[in-house]
Amino acid sequence: MNHLKTLIREVPDFPKPGILFYDITTLLKDADGLRALIDELGASYVGKGIDKVVGIEARGFIFAPAVAYALKAGFIPVRKPKKLPAPVERVEYQLEYGTDVLEIHRDAITPGENVLIVDDVLATGGTASAVAKLVEKLGGKVAGLGFVIELDFLKGRDRLPGYDIRAMLHY
Ligand code: AMP
Repeated sequence: MNHLKTLIREVPDFPKPGILFYDITTLLKDADGLRALIDELGASYVGKGIDKVVGIEARGFIFAPAVAYALKAGFIPVRKPKKLPAPVERVEYQLEYGTDVLEIHRDAITPGENVLIVDDVLATGGTASAVAKLVEKLGGKVAGLGFVIELDFLKGRDRLPGYDIRAMLHY
């Protein structure tokens, strides 16, 4: 999998000074890279009875539906506030400066369903742990969290104790 690292563009000082941004658009535009990405993200969950795959706005929307298709599961969008039209559950979580909110449709998950959460990057883990809370609020079982990239030095895993966490690439 490490050959995929050569397809990820590293952009210094984006979106602000001091941040090294891992840009996956260069991986997505590569036909073999995209295929390897989708196959690998879903691989460990084949046959595990995943009912729903949750994608987090916005970059999670790029590949969560493809992973859901591969696993013969449904796709659920978790969105920024005021985007979803029907009744929602919401979660507020801490950012470096201030807070953010994410929402999910209340009827997106049937209690007891096995849910896989996917996103592009596991950084501090704040976003992923908020989404895990949302899924559990609706009675879903978080069967796993899958990421393209994990920034090991930020220790996002420590905010997600007890969960099955997999990342394809580590920095
Ligand atoms: P966090 O809540 O800190 O784990 O941040 C996760 C979200 O921020 C992910 O959805 C990523 O899209 C984005 N993100 C954080 N750090 C980076 C980075 N260095 N490069 C690209 N995306 C990042």
